Order: sequence, then structure tokens, then C-alpha cells
Amino acid sequence: MFHTENELLQNLIVTSPKSARKKFRESIFESWGWKCMYCDTELTEQTATIDHIKPKFKGGHSTRSNMGACCSKCNSRKGSQLVFDYFNESHPCYSEAKASKIKEWTDQHFVLLSLTPE
Ligand SMILES: [Zn+2]
Repeated sequence: MFHTENELLQNLIVTSPKSARKKFRESIFESWGWKCMYCDTELTEQTATIDHIKPKFKGGHSTRSNMGACCSKCNSRKGSQLVFDYFNESHPCYSEAKASKIKEWTDQHFVLLSLTPE
């Protein structure tokens, strides 16, 4: 994550779109501890996928608070379902703790919002 606005702005200027995208993805995997948000499978750069918590076709965006680290198995099982249609008591890896972590994550407001002039 970026610690100050200046750091963020410098990064926007010096990074190419490709490496910016890579950094963005990695920062999301880091925030989830390189583990699948649903089943806790350890992830690597090769196996990690991004789950759109609210599916794109339901109006979900590629914003940080809508993106979770996910193994490819869970990602393909979830498909285009809404997150708690997929991840609920009937899911073998379901726990209240994980469900509330997902809720907290999607409720977060990230640093970009603070760039709006006051
Ligand atoms: Zn998984």
C-alpha cells in the first residue's frame, strides 16, 4: 500500500500500465495474506486469481474493495454468483469470521478517496 499521497502520485507517474497493474494485483494478494479468501489455500503468483466480490455483470467494478484473492478452484466454482449466494453455511469452508472479513473488506474506503480536493 501507499503511505502518503506523494508516494502514490509518484508511483502513478513512474510505473508503466503493465507494472502498475501487477503491483495493484500483488497489493490485493498481500492484503489477503496470499491465501484464498474462501478456502484458505496458500496462493502463489502462479496460482492466485482475483475474484470480483460483486460480479462484473452485476455491476461490480475493478476497485480494490471489490477484489479478493482467490484460488482458481473457488473462482471457477463461484462463477458469476453473488458472493453470499456462493459463500454461505452450505459451503464446506464457510465460517462467520471469513464472512465478516469479506463484509469488512467490501465496506472499506481506500486512500484514493482522500485525493479529492477538500
Ligand atoms: Zn479457494
